Amino acid sequence: MATVAGVAVDPGHWIGGERVRSAGTFTDVSPIGETPLAEIARGGAAEVDAAVAAAHRAFPAWARTSRDERARLLHAVADGVEKRIEELAQVETADNGALIRSHRRGVMPRVAHNFRFFADWLLKLGHDDFETRGHTNHVSWDPAGVCALITPWNAPLMLATWKIAPALAAGNTVVLKPAEWTPLTASLLADIAAEAGLPDGVFNVVQGYGAEVGGPLTAHPDVRRISFTGSVPTARTIAAAAAPNLTPLSLELGGKSPLLVFADADLDLAVDLAVEQYDNAGQVCLAATRLLVESSIADEFTARFLEKAGRIRQGDPREETTDIGPQIHRRHLERVDGFVQRAKADGARALMGGGPNEELGGLYYRPTLFAGAPEGAEILTEEVFGPVLTLQTFDTEDQAVAMANGTRFGLAATLATGDPERARRVTERLVAGTVWVNCFFVRDLKAPFGGSRQSGMGREGGDWSFDFYCDLKNTVTAP
Ligand code: NAD
Repeated sequence: MATVAGVAVDPGHWIGGERVRSAGTFTDVSPIGETPLAEIARGGAAEVDAAVAAAHRAFPAWARTSRDERARLLHAVADGVEKRIEELAQVETADNGALIRSHRRGVMPRVAHNFRFFADWLLKLGHDDFETRGHTNHVSWDPAGVCALITPWNAPLMLATWKIAPALAAGNTVVLKPAEWTPLTASLLADIAAEAGLPDGVFNVVQGYGAEVGGPLTAHPDVRRISFTGSVPTARTIAAAAAPNLTPLSLELGGKSPLLVFADADLDLAVDLAVEQYDNAGQVCLAATRLLVESSIADEFTARFLEKAGRIRQGDPREETTDIGPQIHRRHLERVDGFVQRAKADGARALMGGGPNEELGGLYYRPTLFAGAPEGAEILTEEVFGPVLTLQTFDTEDQAVAMANGTRFGLAATLATGDPERARRVTERLVAGTVWVNCFFVRDLKAPFGGSRQSGMGREGGDWSFDFYCDLKNTVTAP
Protein backbone atom coordinates (compact mmCIF):
# COMPACT_ATOMS: atom_id res chain seq x y z
CA MET A 1 0.00 0.00 0.00
CA ALA A 2 1.23 3.49 -0.82
CA THR A 3 0.28 6.56 1.16
CA VAL A 4 -0.27 9.69 -0.93
CA ALA A 5 -1.35 12.97 0.69
CA GLY A 6 -2.27 10.91 3.75
CA VAL A 7 -4.51 8.57 1.73
CA ALA A 8 -3.85 4.83 1.34
CA VAL A 9 -3.73 3.90 -2.34
CA ASP A 10 -3.24 0.35 -3.58
CA PRO A 11 -0.63 0.35 -6.36
CA GLY A 12 -1.86 -2.92 -7.88
CA HIS A 13 -4.25 -3.69 -10.73
CA TRP A 14 -7.90 -4.42 -9.99
CA ILE A 15 -8.95 -7.56 -11.85
CA GLY A 16 -12.03 -9.70 -11.20
CA GLY A 17 -12.57 -8.09 -7.80
CA GLU A 18 -9.02 -8.70 -6.59
CA ARG A 19 -5.83 -6.75 -6.26
CA VAL A 20 -3.21 -8.18 -8.58
CA ARG A 21 0.53 -7.40 -8.58
CA SER A 22 2.98 -7.59 -11.46
CA ALA A 23 6.60 -8.66 -11.46
CA GLY A 24 7.65 -5.16 -12.51
CA THR A 25 6.68 -1.71 -11.27
CA PHE A 26 7.11 1.86 -12.44
CA THR A 27 7.49 5.00 -10.36
CA ASP A 28 4.64 7.47 -10.26
CA VAL A 29 6.08 10.97 -9.78
CA SER A 30 4.22 14.05 -8.57
CA PRO A 31 4.54 17.16 -10.73
CA ILE A 32 4.75 19.14 -7.48
CA GLY A 33 8.46 19.03 -6.70
CA GLU A 34 8.93 15.93 -8.89
CA THR A 35 8.80 13.67 -5.84
CA PRO A 36 8.07 9.94 -6.16
CA LEU A 37 4.58 9.02 -4.97
CA ALA A 38 4.27 5.27 -5.44
CA GLU A 39 5.62 2.18 -7.18
CA ILE A 40 2.80 1.11 -9.48
CA ALA A 41 2.23 -2.37 -10.90
CA ARG A 42 3.51 -2.48 -14.46
CA GLY A 43 0.99 -4.52 -16.44
CA GLY A 44 1.41 -6.26 -19.78
CA ALA A 45 -0.33 -8.75 -22.03
CA ALA A 46 -0.88 -11.28 -19.22
CA GLU A 47 -2.69 -8.77 -16.98
CA VAL A 48 -4.72 -7.55 -19.96
CA ASP A 49 -5.76 -11.12 -20.78
CA ALA A 50 -6.77 -11.71 -17.17
CA ALA A 51 -8.76 -8.48 -16.99
CA VAL A 52 -10.56 -9.03 -20.31
CA ALA A 53 -11.34 -12.61 -19.25
CA ALA A 54 -12.75 -11.39 -15.91
CA ALA A 55 -14.83 -8.76 -17.68
CA HIS A 56 -16.00 -11.32 -20.24
CA ARG A 57 -17.10 -13.72 -17.48
CA ALA A 58 -18.93 -10.99 -15.59
CA PHE A 59 -20.69 -9.65 -18.68
CA PRO A 60 -23.72 -11.97 -19.08
CA ALA A 61 -24.95 -11.53 -15.51
CA TRP A 62 -24.34 -7.77 -15.51
CA ALA A 63 -26.07 -7.38 -18.88
CA ARG A 64 -29.11 -9.25 -17.47
CA THR A 65 -29.19 -7.18 -14.27
CA SER A 66 -32.26 -4.97 -14.34
CA ARG A 67 -31.87 -1.33 -15.27
CA ASP A 68 -33.15 -0.34 -11.83
CA GLU A 69 -30.49 -2.40 -10.10
CA ARG A 70 -27.68 -1.16 -12.35
CA ALA A 71 -28.81 2.42 -11.72
CA ARG A 72 -28.96 1.77 -7.97
CA LEU A 73 -25.39 0.46 -7.96
CA LEU A 74 -24.11 3.42 -9.99
CA HIS A 75 -25.75 5.80 -7.51
CA ALA A 76 -24.01 3.84 -4.75
CA VAL A 77 -20.68 4.45 -6.52
CA ALA A 78 -21.56 8.16 -6.68
CA ASP A 79 -22.31 8.10 -2.93
CA GLY A 80 -18.87 6.57 -2.36
CA VAL A 81 -17.20 9.26 -4.46
CA GLU A 82 -19.04 11.98 -2.55
CA LYS A 83 -17.91 10.54 0.78
CA ARG A 84 -14.30 10.65 -0.38
CA ILE A 85 -14.22 13.95 -2.29
CA GLU A 86 -11.46 15.44 -0.15
CA GLU A 87 -9.28 12.31 -0.40
CA LEU A 88 -9.82 12.04 -4.15
CA ALA A 89 -9.05 15.74 -4.58
CA GLN A 90 -5.84 15.52 -2.54
CA VAL A 91 -4.60 12.44 -4.39
CA GLU A 92 -5.48 13.79 -7.83
CA THR A 93 -3.72 17.08 -7.12
CA ALA A 94 -0.62 15.25 -5.89
CA ASP A 95 -0.71 13.06 -8.99
CA ASN A 96 -1.42 15.51 -11.82
CA GLY A 97 -0.71 18.94 -10.30
CA ALA A 98 -4.10 20.45 -11.12
CA LEU A 99 -5.66 22.81 -8.57
CA ILE A 100 -6.96 21.43 -5.31
CA ARG A 101 -9.68 24.06 -5.32
CA SER A 102 -11.09 22.89 -8.64
CA HIS A 103 -10.76 19.22 -7.67
CA ARG A 104 -12.63 19.88 -4.42
CA ARG A 105 -15.43 21.99 -5.73
CA GLY A 106 -15.66 21.25 -9.45
CA VAL A 107 -14.08 18.03 -10.63
CA MET A 108 -14.83 15.47 -7.91
CA PRO A 109 -18.48 16.49 -7.48
CA ARG A 110 -18.69 16.20 -11.24
CA VAL A 111 -17.21 12.69 -11.07
CA ALA A 112 -20.10 11.69 -8.79
CA HIS A 113 -22.50 13.45 -11.15
CA ASN A 114 -21.15 11.41 -14.09
CA PHE A 115 -22.42 8.26 -12.35
CA ARG A 116 -25.73 9.76 -11.28
CA PHE A 117 -26.42 11.29 -14.67
CA PHE A 118 -25.91 8.11 -16.68
CA ALA A 119 -27.76 6.01 -14.08
CA ASP A 120 -30.78 8.30 -14.42
CA TRP A 121 -30.45 8.56 -18.19
CA LEU A 122 -30.54 4.76 -18.42
CA LEU A 123 -33.92 4.68 -16.73
CA LYS A 124 -35.50 6.84 -19.40
CA LEU A 125 -33.53 5.47 -22.34
CA GLY A 126 -35.66 4.16 -25.17
CA HIS A 127 -37.71 4.76 -28.23
CA ASP A 128 -41.45 4.62 -28.66
CA ASP A 129 -42.45 1.54 -30.61
CA PHE A 130 -43.74 2.33 -34.09
CA GLU A 131 -45.71 0.55 -36.75
CA THR A 132 -44.95 -0.46 -40.32
CA ARG A 133 -47.94 -1.87 -42.25
CA GLY A 134 -49.39 -3.25 -39.01
CA HIS A 135 -46.05 -4.65 -37.81
CA THR A 136 -44.54 -3.31 -34.60
CA ASN A 137 -40.94 -2.07 -34.50
CA HIS A 138 -39.29 -2.27 -31.13
CA VAL A 139 -35.80 -0.84 -30.67
CA SER A 140 -33.70 -2.24 -27.83
CA TRP A 141 -30.33 -1.07 -26.54
CA ASP A 142 -28.33 -4.23 -26.01
CA PRO A 143 -25.00 -3.91 -24.19
CA ALA A 144 -22.05 -4.54 -26.47
CA GLY A 145 -19.74 -6.54 -24.16
CA VAL A 146 -16.30 -5.78 -22.77
CA CYS A 147 -15.29 -2.13 -23.21
CA ALA A 148 -11.66 -0.98 -23.20
CA LEU A 149 -11.37 2.55 -21.84
CA ILE A 150 -8.08 4.40 -22.23
CA THR A 151 -7.61 7.81 -20.68
CA PRO A 152 -5.07 10.66 -20.46
CA TRP A 153 -3.49 12.42 -17.48
CA ASN A 154 -4.89 15.92 -17.69
CA ALA A 155 -8.23 15.16 -15.99
CA PRO A 156 -7.79 11.54 -14.96
CA LEU A 157 -10.84 10.59 -12.91
CA MET A 158 -13.15 13.01 -14.65
CA LEU A 159 -12.42 11.63 -18.12
CA ALA A 160 -12.38 8.01 -16.95
CA THR A 161 -15.79 8.26 -15.30
CA TRP A 162 -17.24 10.06 -18.33
CA LYS A 163 -16.65 6.70 -20.06
CA ILE A 164 -17.08 4.21 -17.20
CA ALA A 165 -20.50 5.48 -16.12
CA PRO A 166 -22.34 5.13 -19.45
CA ALA A 167 -20.49 1.91 -20.35
CA LEU A 168 -21.59 0.26 -17.09
CA ALA A 169 -25.06 1.79 -17.16
CA ALA A 170 -25.58 0.26 -20.61
CA GLY A 171 -24.81 -3.18 -19.16
CA ASN A 172 -21.23 -3.56 -20.37
CA THR A 173 -18.21 -4.56 -18.36
CA VAL A 174 -15.07 -2.47 -18.42
CA VAL A 175 -11.30 -2.62 -18.46
CA LEU A 176 -9.81 0.80 -17.70
CA LYS A 177 -6.24 1.70 -18.55
CA PRO A 178 -5.37 4.98 -16.84
CA ALA A 179 -2.49 7.14 -18.03
CA GLU A 180 0.83 6.03 -16.53
CA TRP A 181 1.53 9.56 -15.25
CA THR A 182 -1.70 9.57 -13.20
CA PRO A 183 -2.62 6.07 -12.05
CA LEU A 184 -3.84 6.79 -8.53
CA THR A 185 -7.47 7.90 -8.51
CA ALA A 186 -8.45 4.96 -10.76
CA SER A 187 -7.17 2.72 -8.00
CA LEU A 188 -9.27 4.58 -5.42
CA LEU A 189 -12.28 4.25 -7.71
CA ALA A 190 -11.82 0.48 -7.70
CA ASP A 191 -12.07 0.54 -3.88
CA ILE A 192 -15.19 2.70 -4.08
CA ALA A 193 -16.81 0.45 -6.71
CA ALA A 194 -16.15 -2.64 -4.60
CA GLU A 195 -17.56 -0.97 -1.47
CA ALA A 196 -20.63 0.06 -3.48
CA GLY A 197 -21.25 -3.61 -4.31
CA LEU A 198 -20.40 -3.68 -8.01
CA PRO A 199 -20.06 -7.39 -8.87
CA ASP A 200 -16.54 -8.77 -9.36
CA GLY A 201 -15.23 -8.37 -12.90
CA VAL A 202 -17.67 -5.64 -13.91
CA PHE A 203 -15.03 -2.93 -13.43
CA ASN A 204 -11.33 -3.71 -13.88
CA VAL A 205 -8.20 -1.56 -13.92
CA VAL A 206 -4.89 -2.48 -15.52
CA GLN A 207 -2.04 -0.10 -14.78
CA GLY A 208 0.98 0.39 -16.98
CA TYR A 209 2.49 1.96 -20.06
CA GLY A 210 0.62 2.73 -23.25
CA ALA A 211 2.23 0.24 -25.59
CA GLU A 212 2.53 -2.52 -22.96
CA VAL A 213 -1.08 -2.41 -21.71
CA GLY A 214 -2.96 -0.33 -24.28
CA GLY A 215 -1.43 -2.31 -27.16
CA PRO A 216 -2.73 -5.79 -26.17
CA LEU A 217 -5.98 -4.31 -24.85
CA THR A 218 -6.93 -2.59 -28.08
CA ALA A 219 -5.96 -5.65 -30.16
CA HIS A 220 -7.89 -8.08 -27.96
CA PRO A 221 -10.58 -10.03 -29.86
CA ASP A 222 -12.93 -10.14 -26.85
CA VAL A 223 -13.06 -6.36 -26.55
CA ARG A 224 -16.25 -5.04 -28.18
CA ARG A 225 -15.73 -1.28 -27.78
CA ILE A 226 -12.72 0.99 -27.41
CA SER A 227 -13.20 4.48 -26.05
CA PHE A 228 -10.03 6.53 -26.10
CA THR A 229 -9.20 10.05 -25.02
CA GLY A 230 -5.70 11.20 -25.85
CA SER A 231 -3.47 12.34 -28.67
CA VAL A 232 -3.82 11.92 -32.42
CA PRO A 233 -0.68 9.75 -32.89
CA THR A 234 -1.87 7.29 -30.22
CA ALA A 235 -5.32 7.25 -31.81
CA ARG A 236 -3.76 6.15 -35.09
CA THR A 237 -1.95 3.27 -33.34
CA ILE A 238 -5.18 2.25 -31.62
CA ALA A 239 -7.18 2.39 -34.84
CA ALA A 240 -4.63 0.09 -36.46
CA ALA A 241 -4.75 -2.33 -33.50
CA ALA A 242 -8.55 -2.35 -33.60
CA ALA A 243 -8.77 -2.87 -37.35
CA PRO A 244 -8.36 -6.68 -37.55
CA ASN A 245 -11.28 -7.17 -35.15
CA LEU A 246 -13.23 -4.19 -36.53
CA THR A 247 -13.71 -3.08 -32.93
CA PRO A 248 -15.85 0.09 -32.86
CA LEU A 249 -13.94 3.14 -31.68
CA SER A 250 -14.81 6.38 -29.99
CA LEU A 251 -11.91 8.83 -30.19
CA GLU A 252 -11.68 12.10 -28.26
CA LEU A 253 -8.46 13.75 -29.36
CA GLY A 254 -6.53 16.96 -29.41
CA GLY A 255 -7.39 20.43 -30.59
CA LYS A 256 -6.10 23.84 -31.62
CA SER A 257 -9.28 25.69 -30.94
CA PRO A 258 -9.86 29.37 -31.72
CA LEU A 259 -11.33 32.20 -29.65
CA LEU A 260 -12.80 34.74 -32.08
CA VAL A 261 -13.11 38.23 -30.65
CA PHE A 262 -15.15 40.63 -32.76
CA ALA A 263 -15.05 44.41 -32.35
CA ASP A 264 -18.64 44.38 -31.12
CA ALA A 265 -17.78 42.06 -28.19
CA ASP A 266 -17.95 42.96 -24.54
CA LEU A 267 -14.20 43.46 -24.17
CA ASP A 268 -14.06 42.62 -20.46
CA LEU A 269 -15.79 39.32 -21.16
CA ALA A 270 -13.53 38.61 -24.15
CA VAL A 271 -10.41 39.21 -22.05
CA ASP A 272 -11.74 37.01 -19.25
CA LEU A 273 -12.44 34.23 -21.76
CA ALA A 274 -8.95 34.57 -23.22
CA VAL A 275 -7.14 34.49 -19.87
CA GLU A 276 -9.21 31.47 -18.81
CA GLN A 277 -7.42 29.49 -21.51
CA TYR A 278 -4.41 29.19 -19.18
CA ASP A 279 -6.46 27.12 -16.72
CA ASN A 280 -4.89 23.81 -15.73
CA ALA A 281 -1.63 25.32 -16.96
CA GLY A 282 -2.94 25.00 -20.52
CA GLN A 283 -3.31 21.24 -20.29
CA VAL A 284 -6.91 21.24 -21.53
CA CYS A 285 -7.95 19.66 -24.81
CA LEU A 286 -10.72 22.21 -25.33
CA ALA A 287 -8.55 25.27 -24.68
CA ALA A 288 -8.97 28.05 -27.22
CA THR A 289 -5.27 28.56 -27.73
CA ARG A 290 -5.54 30.72 -30.84
CA LEU A 291 -6.81 34.20 -30.04
CA LEU A 292 -8.23 35.67 -33.26
CA VAL A 293 -9.00 39.33 -32.67
CA GLU A 294 -10.54 41.94 -34.98
CA SER A 295 -7.79 44.40 -35.95
CA SER A 296 -9.64 47.53 -34.83
CA ILE A 297 -9.64 46.40 -31.17
CA ALA A 298 -6.44 44.35 -31.16
CA ASP A 299 -4.29 46.93 -29.32
CA GLU A 300 -6.79 47.51 -26.57
CA PHE A 301 -7.54 43.80 -26.26
CA THR A 302 -3.84 42.98 -26.00
CA ALA A 303 -3.16 45.64 -23.37
CA ARG A 304 -6.05 44.46 -21.22
CA PHE A 305 -5.12 40.81 -21.72
CA LEU A 306 -1.51 41.38 -20.63
CA GLU A 307 -2.67 43.33 -17.60
CA LYS A 308 -5.07 40.59 -16.49
CA ALA A 309 -2.87 37.62 -17.38
CA GLY A 310 -0.01 39.31 -15.52
CA ARG A 311 -2.01 38.86 -12.33
CA ILE A 312 -2.27 35.05 -12.67
CA ARG A 313 -0.88 33.48 -9.50
CA GLN A 314 1.26 30.52 -10.44
CA GLY A 315 2.42 28.15 -7.75
CA ASP A 316 1.68 25.16 -5.57
CA PRO A 317 -1.67 23.72 -6.70
CA ARG A 318 -2.39 22.58 -3.13
CA GLU A 319 -2.87 26.23 -2.14
CA GLU A 320 -6.42 27.51 -2.52
CA THR A 321 -5.15 30.86 -3.82
CA THR A 322 -3.15 29.42 -6.73
CA ASP A 323 -4.52 29.97 -10.24
CA ILE A 324 -2.26 27.68 -12.25
CA GLY A 325 0.14 24.93 -11.25
CA PRO A 326 2.98 23.01 -12.90
CA GLN A 327 3.21 20.98 -16.09
CA ILE A 328 2.53 17.31 -15.57
CA HIS A 329 6.02 15.90 -16.14
CA ARG A 330 9.53 16.97 -17.06
CA ARG A 331 9.20 15.33 -20.49
CA HIS A 332 6.02 17.28 -21.10
CA LEU A 333 7.59 20.57 -19.98
CA GLU A 334 10.46 19.95 -22.40
CA ARG A 335 7.97 19.27 -25.17
CA VAL A 336 6.12 22.54 -24.41
CA ASP A 337 9.41 24.43 -24.32
CA GLY A 338 10.38 22.88 -27.65
CA PHE A 339 7.27 24.42 -29.23
CA VAL A 340 8.07 27.79 -27.64
CA GLN A 341 11.68 27.83 -28.78
CA ARG A 342 10.74 26.80 -32.33
CA ALA A 343 8.05 29.51 -32.39
CA LYS A 344 10.72 32.10 -31.54
CA ALA A 345 13.00 30.68 -34.21
CA ASP A 346 10.11 30.97 -36.67
CA GLY A 347 9.89 34.69 -35.90
CA ALA A 348 7.06 34.83 -33.34
CA ARG A 349 7.41 37.43 -30.55
CA ALA A 350 6.61 36.47 -26.97
CA LEU A 351 4.50 39.32 -25.55
CA MET A 352 4.47 37.47 -22.25
CA GLY A 353 6.30 34.46 -20.78
CA GLY A 354 8.28 32.39 -23.24
CA GLY A 355 10.07 29.98 -20.92
CA PRO A 356 10.04 28.06 -17.65
CA ASN A 357 9.25 29.98 -14.47
CA GLU A 358 12.75 30.26 -13.04
CA GLU A 359 11.60 31.80 -9.78
CA LEU A 360 9.48 28.77 -8.97
CA GLY A 361 11.70 26.21 -10.66
CA GLY A 362 10.45 22.65 -11.00
CA LEU A 363 7.83 22.10 -13.66
CA TYR A 364 6.32 25.58 -13.64
CA TYR A 365 6.08 27.14 -17.09
CA ARG A 366 5.26 30.81 -17.58
CA PRO A 367 1.93 31.66 -19.22
CA THR A 368 3.01 32.66 -22.70
CA LEU A 369 1.46 34.75 -25.46
CA PHE A 370 2.93 34.91 -28.95
CA ALA A 371 2.19 37.45 -31.65
CA GLY A 372 3.53 37.79 -35.16
CA ALA A 373 3.93 34.09 -35.92
CA PRO A 374 4.20 33.71 -39.68
CA GLU A 375 1.34 32.02 -41.49
CA GLY A 376 1.64 28.25 -41.37
CA ALA A 377 4.04 28.31 -38.39
CA GLU A 378 3.92 25.24 -36.18
CA ILE A 379 2.80 27.31 -33.19
CA LEU A 380 -0.36 28.30 -35.10
CA THR A 381 -1.26 24.80 -36.22
CA GLU A 382 -0.06 22.17 -33.71
CA GLU A 383 -1.41 21.44 -30.24
CA VAL A 384 1.08 22.49 -27.52
CA PHE A 385 -1.00 21.33 -24.52
CA GLY A 386 0.71 23.87 -22.30
CA PRO A 387 0.15 27.50 -21.22
CA VAL A 388 0.92 28.91 -24.65
CA LEU A 389 -1.49 31.10 -26.64
CA THR A 390 -1.07 32.89 -29.95
CA LEU A 391 -2.59 36.19 -31.07
CA GLN A 392 -3.60 36.85 -34.66
CA THR A 393 -5.76 39.59 -36.13
CA PHE A 394 -8.43 39.64 -38.82
CA ASP A 395 -10.34 42.34 -40.68
CA THR A 396 -13.43 40.57 -41.96
CA GLU A 397 -15.80 37.88 -40.84
CA ASP A 398 -14.79 35.69 -43.79
CA GLN A 399 -11.15 35.99 -42.79
CA ALA A 400 -12.00 35.13 -39.17
CA VAL A 401 -13.87 31.99 -40.22
CA ALA A 402 -11.09 30.91 -42.58
CA MET A 403 -8.49 31.33 -39.82
CA ALA A 404 -10.67 29.56 -37.25
CA ASN A 405 -11.12 26.58 -39.57
CA GLY A 406 -7.53 26.61 -40.77
CA THR A 407 -6.11 23.63 -38.87
CA ARG A 408 -6.51 19.86 -39.08
CA PHE A 409 -8.45 19.95 -35.80
CA GLY A 410 -12.09 20.71 -35.04
CA LEU A 411 -12.69 20.17 -31.35
CA ALA A 412 -14.20 23.45 -30.17
CA ALA A 413 -14.50 27.15 -30.93
CA THR A 414 -15.40 30.13 -28.78
CA LEU A 415 -16.90 33.40 -30.00
CA ALA A 416 -17.07 36.77 -28.30
CA THR A 417 -19.54 39.04 -30.06
CA GLY A 418 -22.37 41.34 -29.09
CA ASP A 419 -24.30 40.57 -32.27
CA PRO A 420 -26.49 37.45 -32.07
CA GLU A 421 -27.01 37.46 -35.83
CA ARG A 422 -23.24 37.39 -36.38
CA ALA A 423 -22.93 34.61 -33.80
CA ARG A 424 -25.46 32.55 -35.75
CA ARG A 425 -23.78 33.22 -39.12
CA VAL A 426 -20.28 32.45 -37.91
CA THR A 427 -21.27 29.39 -35.84
CA GLU A 428 -22.92 27.83 -38.88
CA ARG A 429 -19.61 27.98 -40.75
CA LEU A 430 -17.29 26.76 -37.99
CA VAL A 431 -15.94 23.22 -38.02
CA ALA A 432 -16.09 22.24 -34.34
CA GLY A 433 -17.76 19.68 -32.09
CA THR A 434 -18.68 22.39 -29.57
CA VAL A 435 -19.13 26.13 -30.10
CA TRP A 436 -19.41 28.48 -27.13
CA VAL A 437 -20.86 31.92 -27.69
CA ASN A 438 -19.84 34.48 -25.06
CA CYS A 439 -19.00 31.68 -22.63
CA PHE A 440 -16.54 28.84 -22.24
CA PHE A 441 -16.47 25.30 -20.80
CA VAL A 442 -20.17 25.10 -20.04
CA ARG A 443 -20.84 21.39 -20.48
CA ASP A 444 -24.04 19.45 -20.03
CA LEU A 445 -23.74 15.66 -20.04
CA LYS A 446 -26.87 15.57 -22.21
CA ALA A 447 -25.07 17.32 -25.06
CA PRO A 448 -23.11 15.49 -27.77
CA PHE A 449 -19.39 15.87 -27.14
CA GLY A 450 -16.54 15.09 -29.51
CA GLY A 451 -14.42 16.50 -32.26
CA SER A 452 -14.53 16.97 -36.01
CA ARG A 453 -11.64 16.35 -38.39
CA GLN A 454 -8.63 14.94 -36.51
CA SER A 455 -10.04 15.96 -33.15
CA GLY A 456 -11.95 12.74 -32.96
CA MET A 457 -14.42 10.21 -34.15
CA GLY A 458 -17.97 9.86 -32.83
CA ARG A 459 -19.80 11.69 -30.07
CA GLU A 460 -20.47 10.78 -26.45
CA GLY A 461 -22.95 12.29 -23.97
CA GLY A 462 -26.64 11.54 -23.30
CA ASP A 463 -28.11 9.20 -25.91
CA TRP A 464 -24.91 9.40 -27.95
CA SER A 465 -23.01 7.57 -25.21
CA PHE A 466 -25.57 4.80 -25.20
CA ASP A 467 -25.50 4.67 -29.01
CA PHE A 468 -21.81 3.94 -28.79
CA TYR A 469 -21.82 1.54 -25.85
CA CYS A 470 -24.84 -0.47 -27.12
CA ASP A 471 -25.66 -2.71 -30.03
CA LEU A 472 -29.02 -1.34 -31.10
CA LYS A 473 -31.50 -3.97 -32.16
CA ASN A 474 -34.78 -3.48 -34.01
CA THR A 475 -37.36 -6.24 -33.55
CA VAL A 476 -40.22 -6.29 -36.06
CA THR A 477 -43.25 -8.28 -34.94
CA ALA A 478 -46.09 -9.27 -37.24
CA PRO A 479 -49.62 -8.35 -36.19
P1 NAD B 1 -1.52 10.01 -25.12
O1 NAD B 1 -2.17 9.73 -26.43
O2 NAD B 1 -0.05 10.04 -25.05
O3 NAD B 1 -1.99 8.96 -24.01
C1 NAD B 1 -3.35 8.74 -23.70
C2 NAD B 1 -3.50 7.33 -23.18
O4 NAD B 1 -3.19 6.41 -24.21
C3 NAD B 1 -2.59 6.98 -22.01
O5 NAD B 1 -3.30 6.18 -21.09
C4 NAD B 1 -1.50 6.17 -22.68
O6 NAD B 1 -0.85 5.28 -21.83
C5 NAD B 1 -2.31 5.44 -23.72
N1 NAD B 1 -1.50 4.89 -24.82
C6 NAD B 1 -0.30 5.31 -25.27
N2 NAD B 1 0.13 4.51 -26.28
C7 NAD B 1 -0.83 3.59 -26.48
C8 NAD B 1 -0.99 2.51 -27.39
N3 NAD B 1 -0.05 2.20 -28.28
N4 NAD B 1 -2.11 1.78 -27.33
C9 NAD B 1 -3.08 2.08 -26.45
N5 NAD B 1 -2.99 3.08 -25.54
C10 NAD B 1 -1.88 3.83 -25.56
O7 NAD B 1 -2.15 11.40 -24.64
P2 NAD B 1 -1.79 12.22 -23.32
O8 NAD B 1 -0.50 12.92 -23.52
O9 NAD B 1 -1.98 11.36 -22.13
O10 NAD B 1 -2.98 13.28 -23.31
C11 NAD B 1 -2.92 14.48 -23.99
C12 NAD B 1 -3.76 14.43 -25.24
O11 NAD B 1 -5.10 14.08 -24.92
C13 NAD B 1 -3.85 15.77 -25.91
O12 NAD B 1 -3.74 15.62 -27.29
C14 NAD B 1 -5.25 16.26 -25.54
O13 NAD B 1 -5.82 17.20 -26.42
C15 NAD B 1 -6.01 14.97 -25.55
N6 NAD B 1 -7.25 15.09 -24.78
C16 NAD B 1 -8.43 15.10 -25.46
C17 NAD B 1 -9.63 15.25 -24.76
C18 NAD B 1 -10.96 15.25 -25.48
O14 NAD B 1 -11.97 15.10 -24.81
N7 NAD B 1 -11.00 15.46 -26.79
C19 NAD B 1 -9.59 15.39 -23.38
C20 NAD B 1 -8.37 15.39 -22.73
C21 NAD B 1 -7.20 15.23 -23.44
